[in-house]
This record gives sequence, C-alpha cells and structure tokens, in this order.
Amino acid sequence: MKFKDSRAAAVEELNQFIENNLLEYSKLRNFDFGPQKRGNTSCLSPYITHGLIDEVEIIKKTLGKFSFVKNEKFIQEVLWRVYWKGWLELRPNVWTDYLEELKNIKVNFKDNKDYLDAIEGKTSIECFNEWVKELKKFNYLHNHARMWFASIWIFTLNLPWQLGAEFFIKHLFDGDAASNTLGWRWVAGIQTQGKNYLATEWNIKKFTNNRFQNIKINEVAAPKLAEKNYSIIEKSFTNPKLLDGKILLVFDNSLSMELTDFKDHNFKKILIISNKNETRQIQLSENILNFKTLLITDQLNRLKEKSITAEVIKINELKNIKEPAYALYPTVGENLDYLQLNKLKNIEFIYREIDQFSWQFCNKGFFNFKNYIPKIVTKFN
Ligand SMILES: Cc1cc2nc3c(=O)[nH]c(=O)nc-3n(C[C@H](O)[C@H](O)[C@H](O)COP(=O)(O)OP(=O)(O)OC[C@H]3O[C@@H](n4cnc5c(N)ncnc54)[C@H](O)[C@@H]3O)c2cc1C
Repeated sequence: MKFKDSRAAAVEELNQFIENNLLEYSKLRNFDFGPQKRGNTSCLSPYITHGLIDEVEIIKKTLGKFSFVKNEKFIQEVLWRVYWKGWLELRPNVWTDYLEELKNIKVNFKDNKDYLDAIEGKTSIECFNEWVKELKKFNYLHNHARMWFASIWIFTLNLPWQLGAEFFIKHLFDGDAASNTLGWRWVAGIQTQGKNYLATEWNIKKFTNNRFQNIKINEVAAPKLAEKNYSIIEKSFTNPKLLDGKILLVFDNSLSMELTDFKDHNFKKILIISNKNETRQIQLSENILNFKTLLITDQLNRLKEKSITAEVIKINELKNIKEPAYALYPTVGENLDYLQLNKLKNIEFIYREIDQFSWQFCNKGFFNFKNYIPKIVTKFN
C-alpha cells in the first residue's frame, strides 16, 4: 500500500475506485482485510485532507457513474468530513481546549510505561501492536481499526484520549484537526454524550477476517464524562466581493488552488504556505512532513505550468507580509492557530461554497445533518 504524491495520481486513484470498487462499497466498507488489500474503501483521505481532490469533485464523479441511491453510503461518508469540519468551526474552543489539555497530560505521561509501551506497540494485545506498526509504516489505518484502536487505548489501556489523538495526528497522512479530534471524542463518549464506542473481540475477529486471535480487551466500560458543554459561536463565513489583484495564500489543506471556487480570479501572486514542526504544537513524523512537502511541490509545479506566479514560503514568513492578502480559509487547526496567535490582521479569509452552504447544518448531530445531504448534493452536482 503506497500513497501517491501528485494530484494526477490522486485523480487516477479516484477514477479506479469508482470504476472497480464503489458498487460494493456499502457492503464491504467495514472490513479491514489488512494493508495489502485495501480496495474495499477508497483510501482517498490523504488526498482529500490536503485538498488534492475535493468533496464536490468526488461527489460529481461518482454521480456520473451511479445514481444517488446506489451511491448514498459513500457520499454520506465523504460529507461526514464536511460535517465534522463545520461542527468544529461552530465550536472552535473544542480544539483549543484539546491542545491545552494535551499540553498538561503530556507532562504527566512523559515517563508513563503504559503510554510508552502503547506507542511502541509493546502491549499484550497483538492486534493493537500490529495497528501501531501499520500506522507508523503506512501512515494510514482503516476506519474500523481506528475505532478499535481508540477504544482499546481509552477503555483497556486506560490512557487519555488526548494522547491517542496526538499519536494519530503525528502519523496519519490524512491527519485532520476536526475528523481526528472529534473521532476520538466520539469513541470516548463525550462527542455524543453518554454514548461510547466499545470494541469487542467478536467484532474485531469478524471484520478483520479472523486475522487476530486472543483479543483480551475490556468490553464493558462507562463513557468518559464531558467536562464542558460548548455552545455554538456566531460566525460569518461570507466572502469579500472583489478578489482580484491581491496575494492569495494557500495552506496545506487546499493544495488544488486551480480547482477552487476562486480559480478564475486574477490574484497578484500565490503563496503556498509550508508549516513545519517549529510552528506546530503537535509534532508530525518525518513521513508526514515529507508527504506534505511533495504535495506542496506538486501544487507549485501545476501552478507554474499554468504560468501563474507562485512560490512556497514558511508560515513564519507571513509576518513579513504587510500588504492586504486573501487566504483560502485553512479551517480550525494548526494553520489557523498560527494566524490567530500572531494577529495577522491583513489577511482576509475566503471560504469554499460547499462549506459556506453545509456548515449551517452542523449545529446539531450527524443524523440531523444527514437530512440535508440530498439538498447539498443537488446544489453542488
Ligand atoms: C479515532 C478516529 C480518528 C480519525 N482521524 C481522522 C483523520 O485525522 N483524518 C481523516 O480524514 N479521517 C479520520 N477519521 C475518519 C476515517 O477513519 C477516515 O476518514 C477513513 O478511514 C479514511 O479512509 P478512506 O479514505 O478509505 O475512507 P472511505 O470509507 O473511502 O470514505 C471516503 C471519504 O469519506 C471521509 N470519511 C469517511 N469516514 C469518515 C469519518 N468517520 N469521519 C470523517 N470523514 C470520513 C474521508 O474523507 C474518506 O476519505 C478518523 C476516525 C476515527 C474513528
């Protein structure tokens, strides 16, 4: 299993998945057959997370091949991501509180043997140890494995979910503030309050095709308690009227600038922003940093091929730019944190149409959001 490092290759993966695997997706998606047999899900998340391909492009392509009814499950999953993003946008303190809690927990767990054994894959639970190895080697885990992993981490190894979420972000090619933080909160039972996700030996055996034996895990545990309730903030996601003539900033989650709703504007110059570990609270592994560098280079080359003036700069060089600039909104996460921490007031955000439209439906749970999926699909197809 190897992830590619260009938009062209990502589009080809999408096309192959639609052609060969999409029809069986809803039947097979929950099986984790192991890293050498991944065709039953799309494995597109590393590309979507970096904006190499986007949700609208994916939905349109799938509907070009199959009807909405045949496609519904896959489209729902693709839009889960948009939902988690919107949910966090409306409650950004969930992210800032998470980082704050993580800072304190890290100090307390620095020498904790259970924690160190877990991240080295040296626990007594074989499947968990295998997932640790797989995550570090392939920088990806199947969705079901992520759920089992998080459940074992929290309810069998009794480790704080915040440290598990950090471990994932450090090693996942698709590491994303919203999907990851909220995925871990969901397993712990604080996202849907009072409802945790408990992995069971039976479920793991069935959906891994009996690849693992002797799975001794805690199958009965109470959900973690939410320490705080978050109310929804008032925030406007409207775009400025005139977009031409200024610098445009592109972060590492929008690396297909030429695809966006803003592609036809005449920007003065495009700056692609690289954010390395010096400016991150969660330190990414070498594999992730290298992957990001390759994707950024691919974006730069594609812009150059179109004769668009573009260059890559480090995020801390943004402080030197004094003139007004636009930025494709980086969404809640470390890039946005940097801009806010440094009070870079000359930067105005522009938002994707799908986010502007969909985030209004993210005030409640996903089951409520699901009711609006046909509306979202109709608007963007
Ligand atoms: C604890 C935990 C942590 C997670 N962390 C991340 C993360 O950091 N980044 C990330 O992109 N996803 C995360 N997920 C969601 C999900 O596991 C991955 O998106 C999915 O496994 C990616 O594989 P795929 O592309 O083959 O998915 P497919 O099944 O092919 O789905 C297609 C696309 O839909 C989206 N999607 C599918 N399931 C989910 C989901 N549950 N939540 C949000 N979007 C989804 C993804 O963009 C995915 O690429 C996490 C889930 C859990 C339980």
